[in-house]
Amino acid sequence: ESLDKGLEKTKEGLFSKLSRAIVGKSKVDDEVLDELEEILISSDVGVETTVKIIRRIEERVARDKFVSTSELDEILREEIAELLAQNKSEDITDAFKKSDIKPYVIMVVGVNGVGKTTTIGKLASQFHKAGNKVILGAGDTFRAAAVDQLKLWGQRVGIPVIDHGMNTDPASVAFDAVKQAVEQQADVVIIDTAGRLHNKVNLMNELAKIKRVVQKFLPEAPHEVLLVLDGSTGQNAFIQAQEFTKATDVTALAITKLDGTAKGGVVIGISDQFKIPVKYIGVGEKIEDLQVFNKKEFVNSLFK
Ligand code: GDP
Repeated sequence: ESLDKGLEKTKEGLFSKLSRAIVGKSKVDDEVLDELEEILISSDVGVETTVKIIRRIEERVARDKFVSTSELDEILREEIAELLAQNKSEDITDAFKKSDIKPYVIMVVGVNGVGKTTTIGKLASQFHKAGNKVILGAGDTFRAAAVDQLKLWGQRVGIPVIDHGMNTDPASVAFDAVKQAVEQQADVVIIDTAGRLHNKVNLMNELAKIKRVVQKFLPEAPHEVLLVLDGSTGQNAFIQAQEFTKATDVTALAITKLDGTAKGGVVIGISDQFKIPVKYIGVGEKIEDLQVFNKKEFVNSLFK
């Protein structure tokens, strides 16, 4: 399974260190917990979430007096499962089906290179395959080739892409995409946006403007704002989550590139810290490697 393969490095990092930490020790004590804390932080679970997990295990140790190191795996698994259980991850296509909203407008945000185009492609083809009429808006007018990449992709799958070329106003692309979707009674509009984090005021203004013009047609839109984060950047993904949630109302997360990194803990930390559901994870370059996030499968795969 590609999930198992994709999480291999994270798993390796976590458990090789953990088994080293408990070598020759039968009891979970302060020293073991200190080691565990370091291991979780180095897997990019994030300080806040790590401290939360350690506190809970400490309470357990205090209550049970003796906790064997051989139980530590299972305890950690339970704690992580419990943290993730608070993540209301429902597939966006399911949310759309239940909503009766048409067109359902999804704005996709994130910095360049994180896998935005791949994620849009995946989402669009999911909707398309389910028989929905989809329109894409090529609103990343800033990055060279972003528009072409999306157009090429649309052609391949047979989905219209609204574009005004490079260096044009992303809000005007969004406006046209939603206008056409309303006129043509499309089911779903997916709008790409440019992610320039180096100028936070610009980013905020740009995303706000896109929202404003979309709301001229549909006051409730966008119905989803999907933030795409590159999991392999570890703490940078946390920083990006912070900046984008400040700039706009993010409703869903996709965390990509978990394959080839030992930083898979970001999924646990970001989900816990931001209380925004992780809906997709990317575990490879192929379109089928972007998977609907399933908490149970994720934990199972990590502790297999
Ligand atoms: P964008 O600049 O945000 O639109 O990013 P793209 O969708 O073009 O992706 C950037 C690069 O990352 C491409 O080469 C993708 O194939 C690759 N990529 C995207 N998601 C993943 C993933 O989950 N794993 C790996 N290994 N590569 C990915």
